[in-house]
Amino acid sequence: MTNSLPTAKPYLAAIKPYKAGKTARHPDVAPIKLSSNENAYGPSPKALEAFRTAAGSLHRYAESSCVALREELVQMHGGTPDHYVCGAGSDELIGLLIHAYAGAGDEILFPEHAFLMYRIYTLAAGATPVTAKEVNRRADVDALLAAVNERTKIVFLANPNNPTGTYLPATEVKRLRAHLPQHIILALDGAYTECVDAADYEDGMAQALSMPNVVVLRTFSKLYGLPALRLGWMCADASIIEAIHRVRSPFNVNGVAQIVGLAALRDQEYLHQQRGLMLHQRAFMTKELRALGVHVEDSQGNFVLADVGTREEAVRLMAGLEQHHIYVRDVEAYYLPTCIRITMGTEEENQRVLAVWKELQA
Ligand SMILES: *Cc1c(COP(=O)(O)O)cnc(C)c1O
Repeated sequence: MTNSLPTAKPYLAAIKPYKAGKTARHPDVAPIKLSSNENAYGPSPKALEAFRTAAGSLHRYAESSCVALREELVQMHGGTPDHYVCGAGSDELIGLLIHAYAGAGDEILFPEHAFLMYRIYTLAAGATPVTAKEVNRRADVDALLAAVNERTKIVFLANPNNPTGTYLPATEVKRLRAHLPQHIILALDGAYTECVDAADYEDGMAQALSMPNVVVLRTFSKLYGLPALRLGWMCADASIIEAIHRVRSPFNVNGVAQIVGLAALRDQEYLHQQRGLMLHQRAFMTKELRALGVHVEDSQGNFVLADVGTREEAVRLMAGLEQHHIYVRDVEAYYLPTCIRITMGTEEENQRVLAVWKELQA
């Protein structure tokens, strides 16, 4: 026996670990955290009430397949419970989908500025990430289709996309699906579906419920205001859902998340109210930042992407904001080194960002 050390699989060395959005390091100041696309107002009061009741069942294993949540999703979106599986955030479901369908020699395809977890989980599975060029920071269906080959297993499309905020209209998503061979999965990541107000957008649920190869992913982490809970869901053909059930851990969604998530789902009134507040702030921030001469993409997410022209200026502004305890997202890792992603905070927080930004520009 040689005296060598344990070695992780060598292909894991290509993974750059995901860096979460920054927050304050001083416990004595309340930061303005606009770096993780959270909902500054938090979740439904009914969800918080459910959280307190959930304390009474911590000593029991939770139901293992999220039956109540899946039945509620059937009520809301149609299909049957076997069209749905829940996960510890949609992140987990992205990972499980890749794990179930791809391995060494397979390719996973996504647009240039796509959500980072697609790449990370692809590399973790030993598969190969492939990116397709975007046009004006928007996913390009022709470029995606041109990159498809016999090794392609899954095409990921966040619609709307994080961090660009851009989206594809329903006609473009349908064109992508129509030209994709049926053995390739089209995974539509709807993390920001609740934030969309574009009239030509569709959430993809009709396709996920009727096509054998369309998957929709959703989360409670963004507009629902429950990221610490770790809860997301997937809708797809029953055969895909079954594959996920085979690879997931038996209690992947904790019991508290199941109880609180159900209460949040049932309070659509609160969600609707939050959506109204967010849409108003998004329009306001887009307009105000543009008035300062900043290039801001039209966004369909709960954030805006500001292009400040150079990397130096982006770094300078982020450091300046941080001095005022304002934390935004550096998106260099998304190949957008001159951009800053700003989550919509409360009205007061956004006003503060604008005031500090003006000061820093002067
Ligand atoms: C935030 C985000 C997710 C993951 O959120 P979870 O907290 O894991 O549910 C997935 N996709 C996109 C595009 C996101 O921005």
